[in-house]
Amino acid sequence: MKPRQTREIRIGNVRIGGANPIAVQSMAATRTVDVAATIRQVELLEAAGADIIRIAVDNPKDVAALAEIRRARPNANLSIDLQENYRLAEKVAPFVQKLRYNPGHLYHLEREKPVQEKVRYLVDVARAHGCAMRIGVNAGSVDPEKLEKYAHGDSITPMVESALEHCAMLDDLGFDQYCVSLKDSDPNKVIDANVAFAEARPDVPLHLGVTEAGMPPDGVIKTRVAFEQLITRGIGDTIRVSLTLPFDDKGDEITVGRQILSDIESGRFRSVPRFEQHGLNIISCPSCSRVENEAFIDLAQNVRAMTEYAKEHDITIAVMGCRVNGPGETDDADLGMWCAPSFVNLKRGPKTIGQFTYDEILGKLRVELDTLIEEKTVSSRA
Ligand code: SF4
Repeated sequence: MKPRQTREIRIGNVRIGGANPIAVQSMAATRTVDVAATIRQVELLEAAGADIIRIAVDNPKDVAALAEIRRARPNANLSIDLQENYRLAEKVAPFVQKLRYNPGHLYHLEREKPVQEKVRYLVDVARAHGCAMRIGVNAGSVDPEKLEKYAHGDSITPMVESALEHCAMLDDLGFDQYCVSLKDSDPNKVIDANVAFAEARPDVPLHLGVTEAGMPPDGVIKTRVAFEQLITRGIGDTIRVSLTLPFDDKGDEITVGRQILSDIESGRFRSVPRFEQHGLNIISCPSCSRVENEAFIDLAQNVRAMTEYAKEHDITIAVMGCRVNGPGETDDADLGMWCAPSFVNLKRGPKTIGQFTYDEILGKLRVELDTLIEEKTVSSRA
């Protein structure tokens, strides 16, 4: 196994990078304003051995809830996901050890302001409160200027370029307590993006993860394949396993992460040098505080059960929990669903088919899936 060469950064009482053990982290899936449920998530994750726990904050009510969560769990190393509202950083930083921002979201907010100015603000806040930072690049939300520069279909280069650009901004500000993540739901793309980034910036600690990996066991396999390929190359300083799970089972993300690390350490691999996806591929998001209807988790499980009959077909179905990332992140799937409070949007590729209630959606999906299978069968005979 190749040794890691990254610099060390501190997140509360955990150090990542350099020769430190790979830290295992996860994220609360509940709505942050549901204080009791979110405290319970933090407790479950702490009990499972999480080194760092992430919570999403999007508005002042979430900030007030975060203060209560911090009081209830004073020893947790908390990371905050600054979703659409980076200006909340100064309000949340006193309660947490790490701030995560998404360069794609930062691009869209306060468009009149240069991105460097927004990054400077975040660095000033992080410095003042001793927080680390994560530049979290997601394939589904890369800034459009980067996407336009490269051929359609090349999602890796824009992601890597976005991460490198933001590293340069933090470097220029003399801030080195940061790590980077480059995530996609396709484990092969996660491997390629992280390998390319690590070649360019071997000094920067990497947070690894496969987004929307889905439910166990498939979600675990996708994640395992990516981690095996990267960690054996000396890439990866902290990991997050993203699985669609009932809230009470959230600690399983930590258990699975530690199991994968222990298997890699002992030379137990399942690889499969690459993830050769054949057959039905169901991707679903791990859910977070943005989920507006918990029926999403049952829906993800029911989709899997209902589509069992189609498992031999090379088709990707995506199930996403919210209207913020759902629309963009379902574009690349053959059939996609993203959940709103009282209905589910059904899509075929980037095109919306319609909106259906939680009771109707499985039947509609079945019709679309049958049509797709029929079309693929006809075209393979042609
Ligand atoms: S798709 Fe929405 S609900 Fe699901 S993890 Fe992403 S932000 Fe959260």
